[in-house]
Amino acid sequence: MADMARDYYEVLGISRDAGETDIKKAYRRLAMEYHPDRNNGDKSAEEKFKQVSEAYDVLRDPAKRAQYDRYGAAGLRGPAGAGFGFHPFDLSEALSVFMRDFGGLSGLESLFGGGERSRRGQRRGPDVQVTLRVTLDEVATGATRKVKLRTLERCPKCEGSGGKGGQKPVPCRTCGGSGEVRRATQSFFGQFVSVTSCPTCGGEGTVVQEPCEQCRGDGRVRAERTVEIEIPAGVSGNNYLTLRGHGAAGPRNAGPGDLIVALEVEEDPRFERHGDDLVYDLPITFSQAALGADLSVPSPSGAATVRVPPGVQSGTILTVRGKGLPSLAHGGRGNLHVRIQVWTPQRLNPEQKELFDRMAEIESKPQGDSVGRRFWNRIRDALGA
Ligand SMILES: [Zn+2]
Ligand SMILES: [Zn+2]
Repeated sequence: MADMARDYYEVLGISRDAGETDIKKAYRRLAMEYHPDRNNGDKSAEEKFKQVSEAYDVLRDPAKRAQYDRYGAAGLRGPAGAGFGFHPFDLSEALSVFMRDFGGLSGLESLFGGGERSRRGQRRGPDVQVTLRVTLDEVATGATRKVKLRTLERCPKCEGSGGKGGQKPVPCRTCGGSGEVRRATQSFFGQFVSVTSCPTCGGEGTVVQEPCEQCRGDGRVRAERTVEIEIPAGVSGNNYLTLRGHGAAGPRNAGPGDLIVALEVEEDPRFERHGDDLVYDLPITFSQAALGADLSVPSPSGAATVRVPPGVQSGTILTVRGKGLPSLAHGGRGNLHVRIQVWTPQRLNPEQKELFDRMAEIESKPQGDSVGRRFWNRIRDALGA
């Protein structure tokens, strides 16, 4: 059983002597990250949400925590256990733990900052996710992209009401219009009341009596739409853009979901990217290395010039300020780092051959300058001569 191996302290990322406040803080942060309302029903997020809720529910309670510290969850779960009834949480238990301690649904909405979201987030249209591949040049300048979405739009026939001929929905009789049904459940710890959305109206509180022929009462139809997406300069593959209200329409005129744009930045063979900084490998010749040169290097904002000092060594990094990528976080631009690679010619024409022969002759004589001498001493040492 995989859950036996889980350590509640590790699950919450806290130390074994963490106090009540730390436990609560850690749980709150993780629960908000993995809450199903924020993860589009992603199964692994839901799994995490259940795990952190279970861990929190044990560790927040001094008695349960003491038992857990002594015996671990597995020992307490078995038939010979101390009777705390630890077990892997299901989603509704996890949600009720979260709601119990973090102020219920309205609290949840304000925690998430989703003010326009309707009750339980169920009426609102679904979020639509698209992935955009952008080049490094587009990251450098920012870009505007048009994207075609296949999604759900308000039904034109009933104007979204879902009722035949635009008929308005009427209050649901199962839940009396509240959209919620309450259910009391008996558990080891006593009775607890869970609130779920009404099965008749799906949480909306209203129902359509005679459905529209075109959308069958849903208030939406399939449609294609083109959206223009502004990609700000400086983005990376870790960034998401959220276009509020640009997702699918909600059922029966409920608010639309969001359009979530995941970004993938294509590798640029010329550069290594490190945040806003770029690294470029520049091959130079022996003579350029020895004599120094002003050389042209590519950058996402056009060619730049790097001043190579005389006597540069392979592997030296020269920095061209402000020629990296724009910074999304704090404005300004990163730097372009030019990594020098002294290139050895593989074929010499007769003239070059002659010059290198002449060079070799000079190098074999005792050197006047101290750096050159040090170099030859090192070579001699390496050869054990
Ligand atoms: Zn319709
Ligand atoms: Zn209802």
